[in-house]
Amino acid sequence: MADSGDFNIRFWGVRGSIACPGEATVRYGGNTACLEVLCGGRRLIFDAGTGLRALGDSLAREDGPVEGDIFLSHTHFDHICGIPFFKPFYVRGNRFRVWAGHLLPEFTLKQVVGDMMVAPLFPVPPEIFEQQVDYRDFNCGQTFEPCTGVVIRTAPLNHPDRATGYRVEYAGRAACYITDTGHIEGQRDEALVAFVAGADLMIYDSTYTDEEFPCYRDYGHSTWQEGVRIAEAAGVGRLAIFHHDPSHDDDMMDRIAAEAEALRPGTVVAREGMVLQP
Ligand SMILES: [Zn+2]
Ligand SMILES: [Zn+2]
Repeated sequence: MADSGDFNIRFWGVRGSIACPGEATVRYGGNTACLEVLCGGRRLIFDAGTGLRALGDSLAREDGPVEGDIFLSHTHFDHICGIPFFKPFYVRGNRFRVWAGHLLPEFTLKQVVGDMMVAPLFPVPPEIFEQQVDYRDFNCGQTFEPCTGVVIRTAPLNHPDRATGYRVEYAGRAACYITDTGHIEGQRDEALVAFVAGADLMIYDSTYTDEEFPCYRDYGHSTWQEGVRIAEAAGVGRLAIFHHDPSHDDDMMDRIAAEAEALRPGTVVAREGMVLQP
């Protein structure tokens, strides 16, 4: 199934914390975390923030039933609030598996989605799409092979309420999706370095800059400069700066892009609509 060798990653949402549409964010985008990863004919989706809505609209235009796997980094609201607005969940014949590795044993994913889609928070219960959706809880650290040729490894991140990092390996290439995670200044996260070692691409929680970080040490987020340090230590090919703070407008993102290019040439700042090949 996943045999063509094409490995493409499209960013449908690049923001953290809360969507922030408007003229100050129009170039980089205001939607929260959502990635579409195509491995040959196989579709993987990472996170279900507000970017998931536009991805769903694009899938709804395809002919025939749609199938896919949605892997959640965690269930903070900015990463799941697109779920009720994902049109393909409502179409009979579609099949989706939604995966989370940070909830057991206290919670299940089905419970958590149900708690979000409940009166008076939301008018329709999740049973409306239960024919189309399977919830799959796993223990972070597990490895999956969703189809022949695609391997997904998982590892725990440093985040309140926990989060899962993903490493997707396909056609001899590897891409890592590392959000949300915090670091300790001056201390290297050796487990994370080992997890992303040698990857061709690392998408990294770059909510803050090193200059801002002292005000946000305990927030469970990191900086683009720490992303550079990890990429260097781990021999990562390309770094993609991701999970932008909603207060960072396009001009600020341009400055970060220029500084990052100077510090580590080839580093990219993720923006909505961008497609990367690992
Ligand atoms: Zn987040
Ligand atoms: Zn979070």
